[in-house]
Amino acid sequence: MIEISDLRAGYGAINILWNISLDIAPGKLTTIIGPNGAGKTTLLRAIMGLVPVTQGRILFNGQPLGSVKTWEMANHGISLIPEGRMVFRDMTVEENLMMGAFAKQHRARSGVNLELAYELFPRLKERRRQLAGSLSGGEAQMLAMGRGLMSEPKVILIDEPSLGLAPVVVDDLFRILQRLKDEGRTIVLVEQNTHRAVGVADHVYLMQSGKVLLSKAAAEVDLDALHDLYFARD
Ligand code: ATP
Repeated sequence: MIEISDLRAGYGAINILWNISLDIAPGKLTTIIGPNGAGKTTLLRAIMGLVPVTQGRILFNGQPLGSVKTWEMANHGISLIPEGRMVFRDMTVEENLMMGAFAKQHRARSGVNLELAYELFPRLKERRRQLAGSLSGGEAQMLAMGRGLMSEPKVILIDEPSLGLAPVVVDDLFRILQRLKDEGRTIVLVEQNTHRAVGVADHVYLMQSGKVLLSKAAAEVDLDALHDLYFARD
């Protein structure tokens, strides 16, 4: 569904991603793991057109994404749920959700999708008139995810959803990821919580220093061995 080949990208003169090649299969959950600073977020940002690509290409359903502007990505069926949640704090939960269906082509189905979001995240329905700035961390993450789903994306890119959340909330979050996966959605998950991420994934890419070091079916991944090799231990 997304094919990335020989990609280089970075910030100004600083190159971060070095000759990255990877495939995101439709209907699967692909997780990208790796130590801090490996370039995982930069890769998601490059797919979204938020980071300049200096070499290689990104194809989405066979079409190059290079000329698509970031704000057009939702129209093409790609939705990024960024790290840090980035909800509109002074707007209500429901207004935040409706922002996810802002583009003209999504407005007609916004009512249906709002109900779907509330069905997936009942907590948000209870709090629909509450200002997003007063939500807990877990609720804000659910809101960011609900908003990302309002445009009926074909691919959902999720960056570090469990960051800073209490374990019980992380359980909820992974249950929802499992459900989205069972519904046949295409998901790319960047996670620090490697055990949970690999547990829910179909395919795993490991990045380090801007390169892909490993590509494996999740069932074949030996996480303890990877941690010893690639992740710093305290
Ligand atoms: P983490 O797990 O810590 O979030 P990551 O794998 O997502 O890490 P990135 O956030 O993609 O890594 O960062 C990769 C490298 O790019 C880091 O060395 C970081 O300092 C650098 N970097 C990130 N954003 C910028 C920026 N705006 N300008 C310059 N360098 C940046």
